[in-house]
Amino acid sequence: MNIGQSILLTLKDEISDNEYKRYIKQLSFSTEHSRSDYALFYAPNPLIANWIKAKFSQKIAHLFEIKSGNKVTIKIAVKGKATTPTPSVVAPVVEKPQHSLLNPSHTFDNFVVGSSNQFAFVAAKSVSEKPGEVYNPLFIYGGVGLGKTHLMQAVGNVFQNQGKSVIYTSVEQFLNDFTRHMRNQTMDRFKDKYRKCDVLLIDDVQFLSNKIQTQEEFFHTFESLRNENKQIIMTADKHPKQIAGLEERLKSRFEWGLVADIQPPELETKIAIINKKCEINRVQLSNEVINYIATIIDNNAREIEGILSKLHAYAQLMHVDISLDFAQNVLKEQLQEKRDNITIEVIMETTSKELNVKPSEIRSKSRSRNIVYSRRIAIYLARELTPMSMPQLAKYFGMKDHTAVSHTMKKINELLKNDEDFRLKIEELRNKITASKA
Ligand code: ADP
Ligand code: MG
Repeated sequence: MNIGQSILLTLKDEISDNEYKRYIKQLSFSTEHSRSDYALFYAPNPLIANWIKAKFSQKIAHLFEIKSGNKVTIKIAVKGKATTPTPSVVAPVVEKPQHSLLNPSHTFDNFVVGSSNQFAFVAAKSVSEKPGEVYNPLFIYGGVGLGKTHLMQAVGNVFQNQGKSVIYTSVEQFLNDFTRHMRNQTMDRFKDKYRKCDVLLIDDVQFLSNKIQTQEEFFHTFESLRNENKQIIMTADKHPKQIAGLEERLKSRFEWGLVADIQPPELETKIAIINKKCEINRVQLSNEVINYIATIIDNNAREIEGILSKLHAYAQLMHVDISLDFAQNVLKEQLQEKRDNITIEVIMETTSKELNVKPSEIRSKSRSRNIVYSRRIAIYLARELTPMSMPQLAKYFGMKDHTAVSHTMKKINELLKNDEDFRLKIEELRNKITASKA
């Protein structure tokens, strides 16, 4: 596989499946015209070319730099059209300029603060004001797409703008670098590089798990940076204590500073994040559409950009404004994919566990308050998250017929509008159910 292909594959993990299929997969890398400082990709049409230029070229450049160590100019051309020739002046290959590895839009300003991430935000902010002094290391953990990398890089961007040397790396990259220097017998340079930076950001350290040699080398790097009060920030998908196959001495050190978690965002925060992403990507959406998107995404904010790009691309293609109807139509497929994975059993299990009633009670004819409440919630979630029809639901829940279900749905929609606690409960359950299917 050539470097271009392998970079596109790396992107796959970072964006939604749909976005990958729709855009990135359409690209082909030109080995013939690319060079160590210039990468040419072909897109099948201008729409895809423009969208990739606007949305991904920075990211692709960033990945090239991580992989090859070179600063690379990215060109996306349309297949079949005359392409700009490879630039003739060969830029000197410079030693990796670490600073440009940060995503410049990952700033504090672009980060939406809500109660789910406030603690981590405040911690990161204080670190950015007093590097090496307040919390060292700062360890941020939480689920996928909750903004860990964004926050960590926000701190990095602050330092970088102050001219400090910031290294942002993954466990994999750290290991590759280590192996490369070992092989080339340039371990001095490796040590210098990591131990002389001002700030070390290391992402997804759960991948240190069971990598004995990397842990060993990371331990020494950690020690020497911390002894000099250089700031270290790490992220992971879980608390250091919970990372299996991690040496005790690293576990304990990871907790020396501050361990801050990020929780899944509440609906309000999701809405605010969507608004922010619209602003950054210059996509205009009505509140109605934004609220709709907020209800169909899981907690993973990474999904948002995929959805926006999809809506935007369709609207451009069809020359229409993005109305609620339009959005619902375009995103139907997305929703369907999710629904396919959720069964009524999962809904019953989660609902009964969370609300402390038995599944058999939910399906009974009992009119006791608590049971009616749980039944309504289960019906609503089943209607929303599974492909079950009203008659099927009526049968499952032992109701007379589909009008009884439709009556229940009406009741629930009223409650959702007027009862904040109820809405939050539903939201929470929905999150648990959609998270459990993964
Ligand atoms: P993680 O590293 O936790 O998997 P990322 O930091 O990569 O998640 O975030 C995924 C995407 O969601 C990024 O585009 C990021 O900018 C965005 N995002 C996540 N949380 C927020 C937030 N609170 N405000 C703005 N954008 C956010
Ligand atoms: Mg991340």
